[in-house]
Amino acid sequence: MEESFGDLKKGQKNCQRTVHCHVPCQGYFAPQKIEEALEILSKYGKEIKIIAGGTDLLVQYYDRLYEINHWLDLKNIQELKEINITQDEMEIGAMVTHTQLETSEDIKKYYPVLSQAAADIGSPQIRNRGTVGGNIVNASPAGDLLAPLMAYNAQFRLLSTTQEEKLVSAEEFFIGPKKTILEPAQLLTQIILPLPSERTYGSWIKIGKRKALIIAAITLALVVEMAEDHKTVKDVRTCLGSVAPTPIEIKEVKKKMAGKNFNQLDFKQLGQIVEDKISPIDDIRGTREYRKDVAKKIMIKALEEIDESMRGEEVI
Ligand SMILES: Cc1cc2nc3c(=O)[nH]c(=O)nc-3n(C[C@H](O)[C@H](O)[C@H](O)COP(=O)(O)OP(=O)(O)OC[C@H]3O[C@@H](n4cnc5c(N)ncnc54)[C@H](O)[C@@H]3O)c2cc1C
Repeated sequence: MEESFGDLKKGQKNCQRTVHCHVPCQGYFAPQKIEEALEILSKYGKEIKIIAGGTDLLVQYYDRLYEINHWLDLKNIQELKEINITQDEMEIGAMVTHTQLETSEDIKKYYPVLSQAAADIGSPQIRNRGTVGGNIVNASPAGDLLAPLMAYNAQFRLLSTTQEEKLVSAEEFFIGPKKTILEPAQLLTQIILPLPSERTYGSWIKIGKRKALIIAAITLALVVEMAEDHKTVKDVRTCLGSVAPTPIEIKEVKKKMAGKNFNQLDFKQLGQIVEDKISPIDDIRGTREYRKDVAKKIMIKALEEIDESMRGEEVI
């Protein structure tokens, strides 16, 4: 029996179809269901490359970093493009674009740091095509969404070709620059975020050489949850990008802030902790010393911003 996936027959060879890049390939699949995608993945394993928006992959492909003969395009899988709220979680499909993250009222309301980070990515064209799943799996240390996702305690849902589901935290998922624990027979399907309390505040800061179309020299996603008295700090996540091989959380900040009155915190001391705990490298986007100095300054700025939004609410 002949089976078809999307608009190409399963296993068809030398189809000479052009993908977005107009490079002839041997097999291009664009299934409409996750189950079909997994079946194709199971058949081709390491021989097939998953493509989402293509904004990372096609740049690497043009540079001939590797050959790709078979493509699995996720663009027709509607389920992967949805943002859904359950009772206590938000589920973001891996094919949700940066534009969707930037404009979704739910994301703006519950995860403003993520929404602002998405708005800072590339250009409108890149934000319209690039996806959250692609940003995660590409795992660049400078990927803008990684620190915000970590700061909101994201978990990634991975589905294997045997339909086995695995939930992993951002901390477990990233293991090095462009390296993750994702196996060739796995698909990232959703990002799961716990719904934050109403007393949660956040700040997002991206530093680069110019305002638009820039790879970050350093990013900071700071999320602070206050206790019911609105004065005591309950929880803090201080996550940075571009200062280590993977996004990182500075856990010492949490130790210093949790249980303390926010008004009595020493912002300079907290900035100093961030500076002391990171060990960035020199590269074209900035030296180690520059990054350490800037990390301290943006930590202080982020705390001041959060202070301001809390005071703004008090006035109302
Ligand atoms: C001009 C330009 C500017 C850019 N600016 C920025 C910027 O400011 N900030 C930033 O962070 N990034 C930036 N990027 C990088 C890129 O746009 C983002 O990382 C984007 O989110 C990648 O998503 P994508 O859907 O295009 O991924 P793709 O290129 O389609 O895929 C990337 C990788 O993820 C894998 N993959 C994708 N989805 C899945 C899935 N669901 N399951 C398993 N594997 C999957 C692919 O196989 C591939 O290895 C820029 C890129 C360009 C070309």
